[in-house]
Amino acid sequence: MIYDITPLISNQLKVWPGDTPLSREILSDINQGDNITLSSIHATAHLGAHADAPNHYSAQGSDLSERSLDYYLGPCQVIKVKVARGQRILPIQIQIPIQEKRVLFATGSYPNPNEFNTDFAALSPEVIEMLHRQGVITIGIDTPSIDLFESKELPSHQTVFRYEMAILEGLILAEVPEGCYELIALPLKLQDFDASPVRAVLRSL
Ligand SMILES: [Zn+2]
Repeated sequence: MIYDITPLISNQLKVWPGDTPLSREILSDINQGDNITLSSIHATAHLGAHADAPNHYSAQGSDLSERSLDYYLGPCQVIKVKVARGQRILPIQIQIPIQEKRVLFATGSYPNPNEFNTDFAALSPEVIEMLHRQGVITIGIDTPSIDLFESKELPSHQTVFRYEMAILEGLILAEVPEGCYELIALPLKLQDFDASPVRAVLRSL
């Protein structure tokens, strides 16, 4: 059983306000008599389900080409949390034991990737601290950010940086039951870029 936890990459997909939406430039088209179809992609690197690179949130951070693939591949736990829109998840709201070193949070607060709602839920630095103490290396969420929309200081991103953890954002977890899976969400080996889209899937263990 495989759950695809990636939104469809189409020109309907919303990106962060002010960021670059997807566009496709068709250079040649087999339906117009060309020998091949060939197109270019233009978009933010934070497109749909994506991995943030440390250089996105720290001047000392690396790109994704230098990071261990271990962050994005291996046993993973999906946790559903009841959190109000626009709020950060607190440690007390996580009522089941952490079993894997990769944890994905389903908040249900960003239900449609083709509609950008700014009141999505996020993580608190306290939760990240707690997960780090329990050996977690990767944190994923079903919203556009692990920090709140209005946040400029990005305390959760900064806590992830401090503990050398990894971030997956923009996941689609509505159909996934809580439990443990194998995560496969490898970023492209992009030099200098601050993120990469991922095809994120969960496979039953
Ligand atoms: Zn981010």
